[in-house]
Amino acid sequence: MQIKNSAVSMIIDAADEKELEEIKLQFLGKSGKLTLALKEITKVPIERRAAVGSLANDVKKTIEETIKNHESRIMNQESKTRTEKLDITAPGIKPAIGHLHLITQAVEEISEIFRHIGFTRVRYPEVEWDKYAFEDLNFPKNHPARDDWETFFIKQDPDPKKGPMILTPHTSSGQIREMERKNPPIRMLNIAKCYRRQSDVSHSPMFHQFEGLVVDKNISIAHLKGTLDYFVKSYFGEDRRSRIRPYHFQFTEPSFEVDVSCGMCKGHGCKLCKEGWLEMGGSGMVHPNVLRNGGIDPKEFTGFAFGWGVERVLMMKEGIKIDDLRFLYSSNLNFLEQF
Ligand SMILES: [Zn+2]
Repeated sequence: MQIKNSAVSMIIDAADEKELEEIKLQFLGKSGKLTLALKEITKVPIERRAAVGSLANDVKKTIEETIKNHESRIMNQESKTRTEKLDITAPGIKPAIGHLHLITQAVEEISEIFRHIGFTRVRYPEVEWDKYAFEDLNFPKNHPARDDWETFFIKQDPDPKKGPMILTPHTSSGQIREMERKNPPIRMLNIAKCYRRQSDVSHSPMFHQFEGLVVDKNISIAHLKGTLDYFVKSYFGEDRRSRIRPYHFQFTEPSFEVDVSCGMCKGHGCKLCKEGWLEMGGSGMVHPNVLRNGGIDPKEFTGFAFGWGVERVLMMKEGIKIDDLRFLYSSNLNFLEQF
């Protein structure tokens, strides 16, 4: 009985097949405890031998059965562990990783593209004086952009020299500030938030613009066209082209609208574009009055400028994924997680 009890408790404690095999040998092997005990049976008086024999067999059977049961349990467990260890294809638990907002990504990409051709990124005030946003950019006093219905006014009573305080409606306000800050050569990239009274699928009251300004000796339309082409190919892709169309802006002369060939129809014409072209924004040669207002002699220096919406170029790049600009500011994760 002692042998049986100690064997059973050892079997139950056995952790793996190897240990179980050792226990088996220890009790049932050639010189195992039970085998030796069975050999001793001959020494038992003949009248008790049958009872002792049957008890010994009973012990042997119990030990064998316990080993068998425990063995299958250990094997099940081991194969389970083995599968768990080996299944490297099982999906893991992914930690939630976010990404920079689309606008931040676009601003970084645009800055990097222009950095390669020598443009320096600058930042100028979002709360701006009329002088920088309109007056020195050659806007007449009665220009509609200076109307209450177009621009947000912070203070109506004007500063005697700088006029009313407003939320800047465009990044062009950085042009005069940059000319005041440094002498030519100037290669400025001003990316900032702008504000206008507007809200529809392609406009929001707050938006971002990036403004380029180059002032140096002998700067011509060819430099402007080369810079536009470079940006369009770097940002939209090598297969895209740019074109300029005559237009009118107060602060450039001559002025142009810049178009990019449509990525959907490759310039053949589709419902997204106008005969193969998409409008990107304005540009032109810096007006002599603006140079003068910035303290630069237009007889010595010339320059070009362009100003485009960050949201607009992003929407043109992503196409149908962004069909309403206001989604960009909705904090809707279903929308943002697409990118
Ligand atoms: Zn098209």
